[in-house]
Amino acid sequence: MTAPLYERVALIGLGLIASSMGHAMKAAGLAGSIAGHARSAETRQAALDLGFCDLVFATAAEAVAGADLVVLAVPVGAMGPVAREIAPHLAPGATVTDVGSVKQAVIEAVAPHIPAGVHFIPGHPLAGTEHSGPHAGFAALFRNRWCLLIPGEAPAAAVARLRALWEGMGANVEYMEAAHHDLVLAVTSHTPHLIAYTMVGVADHLRRVTESEIIKYSAAGFRDFTRIAASDPTMWRDVFLTNKEATLDILGRFTEELFVLQRAIRMGDGQALFDYFTRTRAIRRGIIDAGQDTDAPDFGRGARGGAESGR
Ligand code: NAP
Repeated sequence: MTAPLYERVALIGLGLIASSMGHAMKAAGLAGSIAGHARSAETRQAALDLGFCDLVFATAAEAVAGADLVVLAVPVGAMGPVAREIAPHLAPGATVTDVGSVKQAVIEAVAPHIPAGVHFIPGHPLAGTEHSGPHAGFAALFRNRWCLLIPGEAPAAAVARLRALWEGMGANVEYMEAAHHDLVLAVTSHTPHLIAYTMVGVADHLRRVTESEIIKYSAAGFRDFTRIAASDPTMWRDVFLTNKEATLDILGRFTEELFVLQRAIRMGDGQALFDYFTRTRAIRRGIIDAGQDTDAPDFGRGARGGAESGR
């Protein structure tokens, strides 16, 4: 049997991403032991009962003691305060990483607290579901998905070890610069979520006119929006508050495109609409060809069902 990549992993925050990491690390024998911390006793107990943590602690400070890998898996807005709390308790030579959906704001909030001799390597697995909490996780969540790492000034050996961990959990790893990450994710994830929230909000207003018809006749398009709009409110509030500039930039471009389509509809310009939809259809094909289709049959989610999305 090969030695685990990390002797002791500490998961701070025990929701969808951390629980999936715990299950995946255990399935592949990547961690000697896994310690966990969440605020509520109920979540901590669930982590033990579900078996993705070996031991849990009421404080993050206790959980990180002796860990050679610390994973911050709390909402983006909580990363800074958690980093401040754990800083004095981090073991020399340890790696601290995070899984937050925004990178520049997390780096600004966390990096100042990381002591010399501890390596901070921010990360973001592009995998998720609309479910949250410790019961939502499963070992296959990261399989065939991207994980973006921001190596910064961290030593190559520490980066390679973290990369091996993500690869061991089934992910494909790429390195990226934080500002670029935030712009790319604003296009591929953050703004689409905002649009889904908005569309469901529109339907909610309309419901007063049409009563239950929106639920009863919910067609594929609207149903897909409602799935995305069911995502965790705390997580997404923090994403928009911290990836403000990139989201506003993409939202501005979105509004311009919407006006183009609005005008084509008003003018009865069928050719313009047809050409536009032909272009967007090709993008969808590209995603399927790249194996990033949410409904890919070989995706391995088994009985859990539901669609996944990169967040
Ligand atoms: P989640 O399922 O909602 O779980 C969040 C966890 O963090 C819970 O265990 C919660 O504990 C804990 N927590 C919240 N605030 C805390 C605090 N101040 N101190 C300590 N623990 C705290 O969240 P998630 O979906 O796993 O997301 C975690 C991180 O991953 C976020 O930064 C998010 O941006 C990122 N991410 C999410 C997705 C996705 O699709 N969900 C994808 C990629 C990355 P309690 O139960 O005790 O409240």
